[in-house]
Amino acid sequence: MSSTEITITNAPPGLEGPGYFVTNLDKVIGMARSNSLWPLPFATSCCGIEFMATMGSNYDLARFGSERMSFSPRQADLLIIAGTIAKKLGPVLRQIYLQMAEPRWVLAVGACASTGGIFDSYSVLQGVDKIIPVDVYVPGCPPRPEQVTRANFRRNNANSGISKK
Ligand code: SF4
Repeated sequence: MSSTEITITNAPPGLEGPGYFVTNLDKVIGMARSNSLWPLPFATSCCGIEFMATMGSNYDLARFGSERMSFSPRQADLLIIAGTIAKKLGPVLRQIYLQMAEPRWVLAVGACASTGGIFDSYSVLQGVDKIIPVDVYVPGCPPRPEQVTRANFRRNNANSGISKK
């Protein structure tokens, strides 16, 4: 047999049986998308400082595919809300969310973004999920950078496909 002869072997067993190679292209694309996000940081107060630490060299969220911060919603697919959101800011936040590319994800970082935190007052939104859908809540006041990184993993696990809108 010549060394250039090509031998055709049987395909390896697929995870979901026949059609595996075709039907899983979507999953491969989804996996690539959900692991190479362009985050848009919406940081309004102290949790924003903690988020800056998350992006710094010690914790370095870039190692997990989020290298590029985007300050334009049209070029972002992960909205990271870190800080107290005043009710007055609600419509602005919602508009930013609606302008983002799909599929898109939202992290509510800290007690204030998740529930209003200690600011149970007339002027503070008692959780951003009152106006937009949230994928992962990160507890804490403020949460540690490791928690923000872990939330990013949880978002990946929960949304490994591309069906998210
Ligand atoms: S949760 Fe705590 S640290 Fe974060 S913005 Fe609110 S008060 Fe500041």
